[in-house]
Amino acid sequence: MINLRFRANEQNEIIIPKTMKAAYLQKPLEVSVENIEVPSVKGKEVLVKMMAIGICGSDVHYYAHGRIGNRLVQYPHIQGHECAGIVVAAGDEVTRFKIGDRVAIEPGVACLSCDYCKEGRYNLCPDVQFLSTPPVKGAFVQYLKHHENFLFEIPDSLSYEIATLAEPLSVGIHAVRRGNLKPGATVLITGMGPVGLMTVIAAKAFGATEIIVSDMEPLRLVAAKRLGATRAINFTEVDTNDVVNNVTSGQGVDMIIETSGNAKALQSAINMVRRGGTIVAIGFPAMEEVPLNVTKMLQNEIDLFTVYRYTNTYPLAIKILESMGNEIGHVITDRYSLEDINEAMKQAHTNRSGSLKVMVYPN
Ligand SMILES: [Zn+2]
Ligand SMILES: [Zn+2]
Repeated sequence: MINLRFRANEQNEIIIPKTMKAAYLQKPLEVSVENIEVPSVKGKEVLVKMMAIGICGSDVHYYAHGRIGNRLVQYPHIQGHECAGIVVAAGDEVTRFKIGDRVAIEPGVACLSCDYCKEGRYNLCPDVQFLSTPPVKGAFVQYLKHHENFLFEIPDSLSYEIATLAEPLSVGIHAVRRGNLKPGATVLITGMGPVGLMTVIAAKAFGATEIIVSDMEPLRLVAAKRLGATRAINFTEVDTNDVVNNVTSGQGVDMIIETSGNAKALQSAINMVRRGGTIVAIGFPAMEEVPLNVTKMLQNEIDLFTVYRYTNTYPLAIKILESMGNEIGHVITDRYSLEDINEAMKQAHTNRSGSLKVMVYPN
């Protein structure tokens, strides 16, 4: 580990402690904070002092159920993958970063030499090491070692907590890219959890002029409007189909992006997208198989794309977040220290109607 090769400025010389706190999921619904050694770095590894970590829906799912599909948590497990921090040490082959750089961390480290990686679809790399996806440990630590290829410098004007949103925003960017969203498009986005909200931002950035959103939580619908949704539908009160028909004179929308994982939302998308339109599925349904009206899809030549994580999105996500200035801070509703991780996870797990993004600050 080379600590002295790169120096922070005189006033804020960086001292790295020997031990640090890390949050271990011991069993479902139970996290304990332990003292462990701060990792050392070599080669192209960079040591990042963690400044903010967002809690993701997938973190909550592993926390509560110990699994997602056939992916089982191996206890004790460290969660967290939406994160940003400051570079405090660098291996001797690191060329892109120096001590003191502020960075957003892209959590999936791909091999960059397999066929998928070479093709640019490194989200499909069979050897990807994705923070917090078992058995890989995650980001709820004070210091994290990460490959320099998956770190991105953030501008001074961007706070660490907003920079963590580059991760869920990446999913939204990947979705609109996969669906080839065109300027002027009319889009329906179903589900306004954090990924849905970030997808609103992405759709707007890519030029959608009508962005209809649906959810059942008023707080989420209000947030969506603040981020650029043109119409917000509470589907417990209003029929989404009727709104789509009204807005598009019965034609259907150009694109539907389904983020909720609700099987019905995916099924009914086929009835609300225009002929020749596009459906992009992000949310994982609770069941593996969902019946879809394929006849209607064929007759209307409807494209269905799926989204698994993202590739090459971080630089753009950071630019979009920077351009939003104060328009996005309201998405972060709850803040906790790493010591209070149990409370933080509980809040994210149980307070759907009162919380959007729950943030943890390890330092
Ligand atoms: Zn996430
Ligand atoms: Zn690969």
